[in-house]
Amino acid sequence: MHELPITKSIFNTVVQRAEVEKAKSVRRVVLEIGVLRDFVPMIVQKYWDYISVGSIAEGSVIEIREVDAGAVCGSCGQTYTIGRDNISNACCPKCGYRYGRLVSGSELRIVGMEIERL
Ligand SMILES: [Zn+2]
Repeated sequence: MHELPITKSIFNTVVQRAEVEKAKSVRRVVLEIGVLRDFVPMIVQKYWDYISVGSIAEGSVIEIREVDAGAVCGSCGQTYTIGRDNISNACCPKCGYRYGRLVSGSELRIVGMEIERL
C-alpha cells in the first residue's frame, strides 16, 4: 500500500509542472524507480487513474522505468548492480561476499512528461 501516498505526491508535482507549462492535459508521465522501492507498476497506474480523475492528468499513462540497485562489496570493494530478481540473494560477483553497502536503488524521479498545450 506504500504506493498510494507516493503516487499522490508524484501527482501533485506533475500537476504543478503541467500548470507552469500551461498544459491543457497530461498524456504520459515517465518515472524512474529503483528496484528497492518494490513498486508494482500496475498498482501505481491504478492509483494514478483514481487520483487523477477530474484533473488535467486524467487518462494519462504512467510509464515506469525500473532502475537496478548499486552496491559496494563490504569485503573487496567491488561495485556491482542488483536487479529485481536477485535482491534477496545478491552477492559480490568478484569474491562472493554476501554483504554489500547499497549506494543506489531507491530512486524515484519524474524523468519525463508528455503534455498537450492549450
Ligand atoms: Zn567482493
